[in-house]
Amino acid sequence: GRHTPQPHRGQDVQVDLTVSFEQAFSGTTAKVELDRPETCAICSGSGARPGTSRTTCRVCGGSGQTSDGQGMFAFSRPCTACAGAGSVIENPCAACRGAGSVVRRKPITVNVPAGATDGGKLRFKGKGQPGASGGPSGDLYVVTRIAPHAFYRREGADVTFDLPITFAEAALGAEVTVPAPDGTKVKLKIPSGTASGKVMRVRGKGAPKLKGGGAGDLKVRARIVVPESLTDAQREALEAFSAESDQDVRAHIR
Ligand SMILES: [Zn+2]
Ligand SMILES: [Zn+2]
Repeated sequence: GRHTPQPHRGQDVQVDLTVSFEQAFSGTTAKVELDRPETCAICSGSGARPGTSRTTCRVCGGSGQTSDGQGMFAFSRPCTACAGAGSVIENPCAACRGAGSVVRRKPITVNVPAGATDGGKLRFKGKGQPGASGGPSGDLYVVTRIAPHAFYRREGADVTFDLPITFAEAALGAEVTVPAPDGTKVKLKIPSGTASGKVMRVRGKGAPKLKGGGAGDLKVRARIVVPESLTDAQREALEAFSAESDQDVRAHIR
C-alpha cells in the first residue's frame, strides 16, 4: 500500500526576549517573532499551480513503492521519484515552489510573569513549530534578559544597589530614605561605623519569587563618597578630628 506519513511532534523553539528591569519586576506582555511554516494560500497546500493538480507518479504507478530483485528475494522501498507519495507535481505553485507551505514571520504574544529572572526560561506549551500529519505542536521557550537599570541590579529574586553615603553618615550613623523597586520608600538605618561596601538587607523588598511565593531581599551596599573640595571650616574640623584620632588603619600592612 501507500507510504502514509506518521504524525510527528513539531520542533521546540527558543528565543531571547529583552525586557526592562521594571517589566521583569512587575510582569508584562511582550511579542516575540517566530518563523513558522503556513499552508500556502495560493495552492491551498497542494503545491500544484492553481488549475492543475498532482499527477500519478509514472515510476511507481501511484503505489508509492518500487521493488528490487525478483521472486522470494524481492523487497520494496519508498519510490524515490515521488518520495513515497504516489503522485508528483508537474506544474509547481509559483508562490511556494511546490512545497505547499510558506514560511512567515509571526508575532506571538507571551506573558512574562512578575519576577522573571535574567537568563530564566519560560515555557509556552504548544506555541512552537506546528506538528506534521496531525502531530502536536512543539513548545516555545522564551529566555528572558533584563536590560541594565540606572542603579538596580537583579541577583535572582534579590535586588541590589549602591547607596552613596557621606563619611559623616558612615561614621556617625544615619537614617536615610531609599527607593524600593516596587515604588515604595523604605527607611534605612545606617549603623554608626559603617564600612564602605557593607550590605544592608531589607527583607522582602526584592523581586517576586517565581516559585514558592514571597519576594527576595533588597540589598543596599554602602558606598562612601569623599568630598572633592572642602570649605575652610570643614578643613579645620577634619584636621581637629585627625589630631584627635589615634586609629591605625594600616596596622595589618607592614
Ligand atoms: Zn503554493
Ligand atoms: Zn513514485
